[in-house]
Amino acid sequence: MIEGREGAPGKVWLVGAGPGDPELLTVRGLRVLMEADVVVHDRLVGVGLLRYIPPGAEVIDVGKRGGCHPVPQEEIERILIDRAREGRRVVRLKGGDPFLFGRGGEEMEALMEAGIPCEPVPGVTSAIAVPASAGIPVTHRGCASSLHIFTAHRRSGGGPIDYEAIARLEGTLVFLMGVSELPEICAGLIAGGLDANTPAAVVERGTTARQRRVTARLGNLAERAEAENVEAPAVTVVGAVAALADRLDWRAALPLRNSRVVVTRSGEAGGRLTTLLRSRGAEVLEVPCIRTETIDAPLPALSGYAWLVFTSPTGVKSFFERLRVDRMDVREIGGAKIAAIGPSTRSALEACGLRVDLIPSAYNGAVLGEALLFATDAPERLLLLRAERGAPELTRVLEGGGADYDEVPLYRTAPLKCDPSVIEALRDVDAAAFASASSVRSFASAYPDVRVRAACIGEETEKAAREAGYETRTAKKATLPDLADAVEAFL
Ligand code: SAH
Repeated sequence: MIEGREGAPGKVWLVGAGPGDPELLTVRGLRVLMEADVVVHDRLVGVGLLRYIPPGAEVIDVGKRGGCHPVPQEEIERILIDRAREGRRVVRLKGGDPFLFGRGGEEMEALMEAGIPCEPVPGVTSAIAVPASAGIPVTHRGCASSLHIFTAHRRSGGGPIDYEAIARLEGTLVFLMGVSELPEICAGLIAGGLDANTPAAVVERGTTARQRRVTARLGNLAERAEAENVEAPAVTVVGAVAALADRLDWRAALPLRNSRVVVTRSGEAGGRLTTLLRSRGAEVLEVPCIRTETIDAPLPALSGYAWLVFTSPTGVKSFFERLRVDRMDVREIGGAKIAAIGPSTRSALEACGLRVDLIPSAYNGAVLGEALLFATDAPERLLLLRAERGAPELTRVLEGGGADYDEVPLYRTAPLKCDPSVIEALRDVDAAAFASASSVRSFASAYPDVRVRAACIGEETEKAAREAGYETRTAKKATLPDLADAVEAFL
């Protein structure tokens, strides 16, 4: 049920976006984001989340960018109140948790005073998630039984820091903000009575592909961080738990942990590729590049064909959609055999209750064509159910072998326009994974100034990537795991 709909007054949700990894947004956060009319976000909110914003929503970036000052707090509050008064659903998206040094409380006060309905949606705070991402549990049996979170900025926290009081706490100390204040904090804690040998760590850009960790002792942490050029955003951890980082460095087992990979998302295969790359530790930036449109043309009578040939999961989906629209029944295919170009297409068919009779030894049009020629006898007819202007290799081979085939274009792919909000992020990626030649072409035309290293699913895709001027690696076989291997081959 969608809350705050027409007529009713608007509402503001103060949503915690999590520490950076877009998958660390809560389920409720994602739901309200996907239903938002207006999204007002900070600088630290990753581009990965912005793609869940509905296309028609107004997006306002109130964070600091490239030297410009952030929008003043009173103005942010005014924006929230004004938009909600227009009856809109406003999501105020903040890094981490909205109430931990995020001025969420102030915004809520202003909204309540103005009589605007509002609701906080807690987020995964960087104070806990960033150390965790670096192998540091903030409490640990026998190591630390309490956790204390501070802001290193005095102006955010009030008066001067009482280091003597802090030094007596005997728990894990976590400092947010203020990488530049690190020397002062470390010196203050030691002067306040903490042992200079206390384990300590700084974790920069936690939960992203650019995560870095510097572990040291309290006495030399500031110096080490300076030498490593640590910058904001970073979390500082002081206490015995910091010494666990090497032992609990779970990210070390993930081959793509330091990689930011672009996936040009088109349909369901894009989603599976994203999941696969994330499971190997990559930070995935999904860029929609292709939109598929179903073609509105009736299917021929299906009973006359010995083979139905599918070359993509989208083709399978469109075929069943077509059957429904034409009020046809899948039983009309009778005893026809089914061919699929590769495992993804096969899975899509199996999900619809159709067993696949033929899958080629290599997943491309030419080899599929040869396999079909081998499997058919003279009077048998084939029906190709695929995209408009599908790859020419399949039909070339079929024609060369004298096969009797018809082709029904079920859908067409339309390129999408450039999304300006991702350009900055695209300049800092390690590789892009392409699952089709058309996605390479539409990416290259939407982002002509971006050069990527292209991991390609097969030869056709590789050819398109070379034409676009990209460095390439190609999957051994045309499967998603092999495509993920090709991404790894760049590292
Ligand atoms: N409300 C936020 C904190 C806002 S203050 C939360 O709950 O996480 C901003 C500070 O959070 C940064 O200066 C930094 O100290 C920390 N921070 C946020 N994201 C971070 C990240 N990905 N890696 C390291 N520190 C981060």
